[in-house]
Order: sequence, then C-alpha cells, then structure tokens
Amino acid sequence: MRPDGSRQQNRTPQECAEDQGGRGFSVSTESTCRNCGAELIDRYCHRCGQDSTDPPGDAPSLFGVLAASVVGMESRAFRSFLTLLFRPGRLTRAYVQGQRVRYSSPVQLYLWCTAAFFLTQSFFPVVRLDPETGRVVSSLSSVSIGTGLSTETLARLAAQGTPLPVFAERFDAAATAYFPILLLALVVAAALLLAVQFWREPAIKHAVFALHWCAFYFALEVLRRPLQAVGNWGGVASALSTLIALSYLGVAMHVVYERRLLATVARALLTTLAFAALLGGWLWSTTALAGRLA
Ligand SMILES: [Zn+2]
Repeated sequence: MRPDGSRQQNRTPQECAEDQGGRGFSVSTESTCRNCGAELIDRYCHRCGQDSTDPPGDAPSLFGVLAASVVGMESRAFRSFLTLLFRPGRLTRAYVQGQRVRYSSPVQLYLWCTAAFFLTQSFFPVVRLDPETGRVVSSLSSVSIGTGLSTETLARLAAQGTPLPVFAERFDAAATAYFPILLLALVVAAALLLAVQFWREPAIKHAVFALHWCAFYFALEVLRRPLQAVGNWGGVASALSTLIALSYLGVAMHVVYERRLLATVARALLTTLAFAALLGGWLWSTTALAGRLA
C-alpha cells in the first residue's frame, strides 16, 4: 500500500470535510452517525450516506453552503439535459456502466420532460376533438392524422341535442385526464420493443434506455409544438422532428447496444414505426372514450 494511501485511511472527519469542499462546516465530535448509529469513518456515513458535519452557524457561510448546494444540484440537472439532448445514448451508457451520481436519475429526467410537456399542454392539447369536423386530432407529430367519431356516437349526440362544440369541451377534459396512462404505457412499450430486439441484454438497460428515449421525445415535442403554430411551418417542423427523433434513436441504440450502424438504423426505423403505431392506436382508443362520454 502507498504511504499516502494509508494516511488517507486515518484522516479525521474534519480533514475529510475540508478535502470535500466543506469549508465553513463544523464537524460533529460524535463518533457515530446521528441518523443510523453506524460508526463514522469519514465525513459521509458509510451506511446511510448522511453528512456528519453541521451546517455553519454564521449567516454568510450558511448562505454560501446553500448556494453551493443549489448550484451543485442545478449543474447536475443542466449537465444531464445537455447530455440527453446532444449526446444520444451517453446517459444510458453512463448509467449502465455505473456512473450514476454524476447525472440526474432517468426517472427524474423523464418526469421533468413530461412536466415541461404538460406546461405546453394548455396551448397545444395532445388530443382534442375538432368541433368543426368531428374528428379526434392529436398534436403529437407521429400521430397527427385524426380519426373520426363513430356514427353511433354522432347519432347519440344528435338525439341528445348536444352540439359538437359543447361535447368537444367535455371530451378534451376527459382526454387530458387519460393522458398520464399514456405516459406510463409509452415507457413500458418502449422497453418491451427494445427487449424484443436485444433480448440478450439486461432488462435494466432497456428500462433506462426507454426512460431516456421517451424523455428526449417529449423534450423534442416541447420544442416542436410552438413551431406548429407559426404560419405554414407546421409540416416542416413535423418532418424535421421526425427525422431528428429517428436519427437520435439510431445513434443512441448504436452507442448503448453497440451493434453495427446499418443494422441499428434498420432497428431504429422499425422501432419508430411500432412506436407511431402505438400512439396511433392510443389516439384511436380515445374515440372509444368519446363513445362512452356521449
Ligand atoms: Zn448513517
């Protein structure tokens, strides 16, 4: 063992605190963790991870510590987002290879992206009933083709004397409430699609990849949907985002599953088609919802 290595083992918690940027912290004099009772051998408890130092008593140091923890947290989220958006597959690979503290967790990223997606929901509803044509249309680029209400539903509405615009409002509210189910179903479906294609690979890889991929998909939709509203750019934005999503998936699969690029592109294309079919099926199922509401 190296001499400095053995000295490292015998450092006091105070020295460890200073090493790890804990200036301003006062070290507790206790030898056991106050959270779980384990014996302390370092600044952070080896059993539960609790920091053994006390927050500083004076206001300026306390402010510095708070600012550092906020910046630390935000820089992690920021780094994760940049990696998610611009380096396809890298987050999944880092996670699978055990580099987990450096980035936000896959579930956290997915929740943030879907939350951002929900914020734009009131401007660009995911699914709505067009009161003029009586068709259920979606603003998701992969399922922009609408499906019509069934003749039975239309007949029932006519018999009730409910005008289509009034029914459309009721439908939009119900469809929005139904959307969280889709969010969960998409991740499960994406993981299953990957598992079928790469069945020798561990399940955790598929699960994490599915979360990252769906997070990217929703982040892309957040950026695309405002463009849809600008003049005649909707079609261009849709085509462009589909192309970006497909390329992203191809590169990400290549990085994570390490197969030949050409074979991976073919798989990415198949996966995208299956994914679009699934979203289309979901859109179609909302017309059944309309049937129940009428
Ligand atoms: Zn502990």
